[in-house]
Amino acid sequence: MVYDSGNIFAKILRGELSSSKVLENEYVLAFNDVFPKAPVHILVIPKGAYVDGGDFFKSATDIEVVAFTRAIATIVESHGLEKTGYRLISNAGVNGGQEVPHFHMHILGGKALGPMVSAH
Ligand code: AMP
Repeated sequence: MVYDSGNIFAKILRGELSSSKVLENEYVLAFNDVFPKAPVHILVIPKGAYVDGGDFFKSATDIEVVAFTRAIATIVESHGLEKTGYRLISNAGVNGGQEVPHFHMHILGGKALGPMVSAH
C-alpha cells in the first residue's frame, strides 16, 4: 500500500490548503467536511501518512491510535452528539467508495441519518 503524498488531506496537513478546523493536537487533525452530508459532518484524520483504516489500525503506533479514538470521543461530546446519536464511517478502497487516500473517519450527526447503506 503506497501512500500518495499529493492527496488533498496531505495538502491540508502541510498547510497548502485551508480547512475549517474543529480539533488539532500532535497526532490528529479534525475539520469540517467541505461538502457536508449532514448538519454535523466532521472528518478526523491522523497526522501520520496512512492510506486507509487497514493501514492505520495495523501500522499506527499505540499513541496514534489512542489519540485518534480519543479525538473522536472529544468531538462527539463537544458537539452534543451523545444525546441525539451519530454515525462513524470510514470508507476504504474502491468498494468502500474512498475518494481521498489518507485515512479518515467521518463523524455524521445532527439529524436522523436513515439506512446505513443505500439500496441501489
Ligand atoms: P471519502 O469518500 O470517504 O474518501 O471522503 C472524502 C471526503 O472528503 C468527502 O466527504 C469530501 O466531501 C471531503 N473533502 C474533499 N475535499 C475536502 C476539503 N478540501 N476539505 C474538507 N473536506 C473535503
